[in-house]
Amino acid sequence: MSGTGRRPETCAVVGGGIVGAACAFRLQRAGFGVTLLDPGDPRRAAAYGNIGHIAAEQCAPLASLSSLASFPSRLFAFGGPLDFRLRDVGLWLPWAARFAAASLPRRHAAGVQALTGLLGPALDAWPELADQAELPPGSVRAEGHGAVWFDPARAAKGMAAWETAPRGSVSIRPMSGDELDAYGETLSRAPAGGLRFEGTGQVSDPGGLHQGLLKAFETAGGRVVQASVRDLAASPDGVRVDMEGREPVAADLALVAAGAGSARVLRGLGASAPLIGERGYSIQSLRHGWPGTLPLTVFEEMSVVAAAFDSGLRLSGMVEIGSPYAPPDARKWERLESQAKALGLPMDGPLDRWCGPRPTLPDYLPAIGRLEAAPNVLYAFGHQHLGLTSAAVTAGWIETLARGEAQPEELAAFRVERFG
Ligand SMILES: Cc1cc2nc3c(=O)[nH]c(=O)nc-3n(C[C@H](O)[C@H](O)[C@H](O)COP(=O)(O)OP(=O)(O)OC[C@H]3O[C@@H](n4cnc5c(N)ncnc54)[C@H](O)[C@@H]3O)c2cc1C
Repeated sequence: MSGTGRRPETCAVVGGGIVGAACAFRLQRAGFGVTLLDPGDPRRAAAYGNIGHIAAEQCAPLASLSSLASFPSRLFAFGGPLDFRLRDVGLWLPWAARFAAASLPRRHAAGVQALTGLLGPALDAWPELADQAELPPGSVRAEGHGAVWFDPARAAKGMAAWETAPRGSVSIRPMSGDELDAYGETLSRAPAGGLRFEGTGQVSDPGGLHQGLLKAFETAGGRVVQASVRDLAASPDGVRVDMEGREPVAADLALVAAGAGSARVLRGLGASAPLIGERGYSIQSLRHGWPGTLPLTVFEEMSVVAAAFDSGLRLSGMVEIGSPYAPPDARKWERLESQAKALGLPMDGPLDRWCGPRPTLPDYLPAIGRLEAAPNVLYAFGHQHLGLTSAAVTAGWIETLARGEAQPEELAAFRVERFG
């Protein structure tokens, strides 16, 4: 119910990435009149450039003592994927202090429980959403994935680590000799060891899936406005959305799902979300020789993932902590290109380079809920490395909240107010 006691009928969704598009579609389908506000450049969204993995196995938040211990060896300067942009130190230092606090065992264990609740239903929620949106068959495939190592000692260590890692209902088994040899036929050499994961999935094309959802939203009667939202003003009567260079939009409810841009939009409402743009990089080649029989594969020693999509073979990685709006750092694409070469990845064509921000809160849990200070404002952001995986589940929860039904228990861990 709105503050006037009237059932809300309209909703303005701020941000049309994968989370915003999934929520907007579900809300429109549930009978709300939905306006989706987004600047409209699909390549700006992490929805476009992610690696298409329904990563139901990643139930352990990256805020952990083991992540902290591994930082020095993972730094970009020493050949690793992790880079802290020095110029943005004012942004990430307070974030890093909260990250360290969230890494303590008790907080980490609570995070595992919360992420397990979010990721557990992910693989079932996606096909259901894809069906509702009438996306092409095979858009989301529950075909599992692989993780491989080239060094035998690292393979043994990595496989043992996955054995005990929290991974919900996802099962693992060592790859057979034939499965490892199949990599050797495509890459410069066969891995020394590997794991096959079951209970995870892959999408046929991240950008295509995202555009498909947006199209389904419009087909269902949703309205898309190309604009960057500056601010929200909430009152018991509803929400006014102020944009750059456009007349404001009024609605009974607003949902803030603007990925790494969400904290800026919420600031005027007094919500303090220590959100960082944790940027990833990818290279992609339309022409490639990656066989359809090989699954999406994590090359654990290099911290990169390869996946073949309708739009080409993509290699992605890197964790660059800093401003989501900084210019890209070409050294990271060059690193990916040399990793592709070292692997013997069969990328034949000109390479499309992409970089975009994972929206990440310091405890590596998203923020999903209803703003306590302004109950007609809902929010869904901070999905870090798992926004594609968890968009469909998030959209279901947001629909429940918008309908005014009892809040799902799982959401207690995702309140934005946990940051004070
Ligand atoms: C290299 C890489 C690989 C990844 N791989 C995976 C993977 O395999 N599986 C997985 O689950 N996740 C993966 N992720 C993470 C995933 O892509 C993100 O978690 C997800 O895209 C977040 O969704 P979102 O809708 O919150 O943000 P986004 O998809 O980034 O969309 C945010 C949208 O909000 C808009 N916006 C921003 N500010 C405003 C404003 N002021 N007004 C209006 N609109 C605004 C932006 O333009 C954008 O369209 C990966 C990320 C990267 C970078």
